[in-house]
Amino acid sequence: MRSGSVLKFKREEIPHSRPTLGQEEIQAVADVIASGQVAGGDEVARFENAMAQNCGLAGGVATSSGTAALHLSLAAFGIGPKDEVIIPSFVCTAVLNAVLLVRAKPVLADIILETGNIDPDDVKQKLTKNTRAIIAPHLFGLPADIDNLVSLGIPVIEDCAQAIGAHVGARPVGGMGVTSVFSFYATKMMCTGEGGMVLSDSRKFLEKVRDLHEYDNKEVFKLRYNYKMTDMAGALGLAQLKKLDTFIAKRRAIASRFDEAFKDLCKLPTPADGHVYYRYVIRVKDPARIIRRLREKMVFCARPVYNPLHCYLKQNGYAKTKRLWLEALSIPIYPSLTPEEINKIIDSVRAELSKGPRP
Ligand SMILES: *Cc1c(COP(=O)(O)O)cnc(C)c1O
Repeated sequence: MRSGSVLKFKREEIPHSRPTLGQEEIQAVADVIASGQVAGGDEVARFENAMAQNCGLAGGVATSSGTAALHLSLAAFGIGPKDEVIIPSFVCTAVLNAVLLVRAKPVLADIILETGNIDPDDVKQKLTKNTRAIIAPHLFGLPADIDNLVSLGIPVIEDCAQAIGAHVGARPVGGMGVTSVFSFYATKMMCTGEGGMVLSDSRKFLEKVRDLHEYDNKEVFKLRYNYKMTDMAGALGLAQLKKLDTFIAKRRAIASRFDEAFKDLCKLPTPADGHVYYRYVIRVKDPARIIRRLREKMVFCARPVYNPLHCYLKQNGYAKTKRLWLEALSIPIYPSLTPEEINKIIDSVRAELSKGPRP
């Protein structure tokens, strides 16, 4: 049995991601099942309140995924056809899907090479009279420059799917834009299997989101969704939230071991006090080669973004996105890594990096 985890895995394999689940989570879900109340109820309400409190916000609406949380946020703003939403090119397709789900036009922006986050200067170039929102992910757990985006005068949706617990100075991410979204997918900072949340300080906005996320018992019909969270997921989320500070401390401790071990061999992640290291992403010359070689040693690294969005949309430009995609290598980092696994990662990554030239 692994420390802090009751899950069993093939012993010698170190996957790229792994949830950190223990007896507390098993008990929490078992209690919900025993109660017979499995649809969204008290557990979900408690989870929403606990998350809002964690970010110092008025409230939250739990959803079935991060994608659903993004979709509902855009819908609650009334965004639709002919409206434009600015998103970075360097992010997973969930963000693009959310924009397309409300039939708005996605407008891509380039990133800042050093952080991987959306570049406010490029966003400024992309503004038109139809721009209705900016979605700003805090990529890999490193806070994006929300203040400069907010100063552009367009509503900013903070995408905290990779960054719950991160902060800028004393301010936690999630409270800097107009609204924020979270994901509790199995391998995110905290997990409920699948799940997500919208947080906001505006009760009026939250009421719109809540209205749209369930369809039953309404006086007036309009297009609504079934994006609710179950009480099993809510209970799981509450158990995970109690461990969040420990999770973050462990991630930071592993990141500083990696920094020390890799500093002479590659470009390290940009340090920041509020970084929660959802991903530990270094920049190297040929990530594909390293991924292949490390897989043979059963250490599973990955490209942190599978393909930039501008490639899917067959657009040119986005020089920094392209450069980072070509160089980025994500190394396994999660709270359930054992000391032996951390040593094995360090030794095998160092051995591979020593063979290649620096970018
Ligand atoms: C995971 C993720 C999402 C989507 O969340 P799901 O729960 O998988 O739908 C959105 N944005 C970012 C930045 C993510 O990392």
